Amino acid sequence: LSAKAQAVVDEIEEKEVDFLRLQFTDILGTVKNVAVPATQAEKAFTEGIYFDGSSIEGFVRIQESDMRLKPDPETFAILPWRDGRSARLICDVINTSTGKPFEGDPRYVLKQAIKRANEMGYKINAAPEPEFFLFEEDEEGRATTKTNDAGGYFDLAPKDLASDVRRDIIYGLESMGFEIEASHHEVAEGQHEINFEYDDALTTADNVGTFRTVVRAIAAQHDLHATFMPKPIARINGSGMHTHLSLFTEDGENAFHDEDDEFNLSETAKQFTAGILEHAPAITAVSNPTVNSYKRLVPGYEAPVYVAWSDRNRSALIRKPAARVPAASRIEARFPDPSCNPYLAFAALIHAGLNGIERGLECDDPVRENIYEFDEAKREEYGIETLPANLGEAIDALQEDEVVQDALGEHIYEKFVEAKSQEYDEFRVDVSQWELDKYLEKF
Ligand code: GLU
Ligand code: MG
Ligand code: MG
Repeated sequence: LSAKAQAVVDEIEEKEVDFLRLQFTDILGTVKNVAVPATQAEKAFTEGIYFDGSSIEGFVRIQESDMRLKPDPETFAILPWRDGRSARLICDVINTSTGKPFEGDPRYVLKQAIKRANEMGYKINAAPEPEFFLFEEDEEGRATTKTNDAGGYFDLAPKDLASDVRRDIIYGLESMGFEIEASHHEVAEGQHEINFEYDDALTTADNVGTFRTVVRAIAAQHDLHATFMPKPIARINGSGMHTHLSLFTEDGENAFHDEDDEFNLSETAKQFTAGILEHAPAITAVSNPTVNSYKRLVPGYEAPVYVAWSDRNRSALIRKPAARVPAASRIEARFPDPSCNPYLAFAALIHAGLNGIERGLECDDPVRENIYEFDEAKREEYGIETLPANLGEAIDALQEDEVVQDALGEHIYEKFVEAKSQEYDEFRVDVSQWELDKYLEKF
């Protein structure tokens, strides 16, 4: 046993943990669990735990279904809502027939992206800003879209009734090792944001999964339903998951910072940005992977629609947030939403950015005006493209973009396109309430 694994086994004994949840995510980003009695901890570290991969979305074909979970001891955390008797470990997935990492494991895909960055001499830091809504439940305990407060951006009690829930969520997250930077009521009724400290890209992707689980579990204890659905209510702000990214060199310098640049952004940062902008239409299939995601990416609600960057305005796809110290120079990708698989979304962003660096791509000047207000002629004059208008267009863009395909790897790329095309087709043939309201009596 490694020293770290031994420390985990000791802690399990000391804290009298009964159950261990071994976690991994499927291609669609859902956190999956295999629960084992805590007495299995040592065996989980030495031999791994076997499971049937054929029942997990997009994992394997039926005939090759044995997978092994290899727990990462760095990810040990006691779950705050089970009397401290349950703990989790995030796992890598191993293909039992080859003994190698399974290419269908999203965590492996992100590790590959990080490895490529390391080979180019960089470490990647990431920080997400997941937004979510808290809704009331009906008598049967099912989610409604009724908010339990009428607060607005940064509102304080008594209007912000959800602040108690948010406080409990923060305690829960902190007990699992999160460092919370800020939490506030978002623009929309019932909408919230809790920001946590940046970390290396893998830890941050792990954290996103944990964050969603904790928020939902603690909201449920308050009889509320927390949702990360991107646009639960039409015509008000949706929920994004802005993702801040920066590259650091091996000796700890921020490779995105340049003292002398007008925006304090280095050439490397601009090339990375240009790479993301170029591949943005294909990335959206991964970072905005639901039919509903595209209801958020419309003008007027602080979500991006146009492919451009800015040093100030929020209608751009990428923003350069103000940084007080050189270490904080970073870019903010504003298009991802919290329905994405964070491992895959980060991998796509990283590969696209690194591609920009490798090719020495040039970045256009930032757009400083509100792009929502541009008409088509002005967008053409600035050469600004539009993001895919729906999931179907995003899948098409992905099918034309080899860089983003390679980011996912063949296995996940194929399964992902299959699952998402099916999802989009289902939506296409459905008849919505809007159509009935609009046409039923008119024609
Ligand atoms: N809710 C907005 C979005 O959909 C973002 C608001 C903000 O700037 O935090 O991305
Ligand atoms: Mg926000
Ligand atoms: Mg933001």
